[in-house]
Amino acid sequence: MAKTIIPIRAQGALAPVRAAPFTGGTLADTRGRRMHDLRISVTDRCNFRCVYCMPREVFDASYRFLPHGAILSFEEIARLARVFVGLGVQKIRLTGGEPLVRRDLPRLIELLAPLGAELTLTTNGSLLARHARALKAAGLHRVTVSLDSLDDATFRAMNDADFPVAKVLEGIEAAREAGLGPVKVNMVVKRGVNDGEIERMADFWRAKGAGTIARFIEYMDVGSTNGWRTDDVVPSAEIVRRISARWPLEPADANYEGEVAERWRYKDGAGEIGVISSVTQAFCSSCTRMRLSTEGALYTCLFAQGGHDLKALVRGGASDEALRNEIAAVWQAREDRYSEIRTAQTAKGRKVEMSYIGG
Ligand code: SF4
Repeated sequence: MAKTIIPIRAQGALAPVRAAPFTGGTLADTRGRRMHDLRISVTDRCNFRCVYCMPREVFDASYRFLPHGAILSFEEIARLARVFVGLGVQKIRLTGGEPLVRRDLPRLIELLAPLGAELTLTTNGSLLARHARALKAAGLHRVTVSLDSLDDATFRAMNDADFPVAKVLEGIEAAREAGLGPVKVNMVVKRGVNDGEIERMADFWRAKGAGTIARFIEYMDVGSTNGWRTDDVVPSAEIVRRISARWPLEPADANYEGEVAERWRYKDGAGEIGVISSVTQAFCSSCTRMRLSTEGALYTCLFAQGGHDLKALVRGGASDEALRNEIAAVWQAREDRYSEIRTAQTAKGRKVEMSYIGG
């Protein structure tokens, strides 16, 4: 008998907003944070089943992904992105699921490029070797690649799709050659799974020289399906200490207000690393990220329980001004600071899945 699946995406109620006109000026939320980054999830599908994001026991063969008609078209995404840029967004990141499984993605990038925002993409790298040049030619600026291990067996176990490391390394090389660097290489560190590789990962990308930056991400309680436990978290302070013991590090300034990763430079000039410490060093006070789901809903936090439906407006004939007012109202009402208030209890709460709104 087919298992009844509770559609993960249905858990967060979509709250329609009927907003007062936004009269311009600085758009800030209740904590004075500006909307600098927009993360757009272009698909809820992925060819991997990473254990901390899309565990196979939930996202199995009977899982119902969004039908094509339910996801925003490239034209709808581009129209919304134009409104966001008009409201101050300066950086657009395309995510998923795995964005490169969405067909013809360069066409979307061509639509977004004229908006003048920085255009980046986060990918698992599995299809990057094939698409890197076309993405660059379409106007993409940079890519970030998730790579949780250099050990083939560990990597295959963590992506749970039996996918080899070598193919992802090929993709990163193709991205560098295509001029999509510096390529940030993200490793989600889980104690007892891949934490033994922290130094190896740092060493590997140090040796590659300029053009790549290794980043280490604290394992997070994203969504409601990854069975997160505090004991599995390796604090960034420990990661920095371990790497610095081999190759001395010193703090480096953020590239801009609200940058997610904390930067550390090698004292010997061999580049830098980044750490993302949502669990042990919350950075909500400078969080400038808005998220647009594949289905056209706004999420004001990675750990949100609910979203705000924009698609009904877009498909209901709303004007750009009406969309602008809606988006501004959602941001102005924003209070999110999940990482500051995280407890073992909140970690168990039902939250939107990362694969649905992008990391
Ligand atoms: S927990 Fe939410 S508010 Fe805090 S940094 Fe992450 S996305 Fe931003």
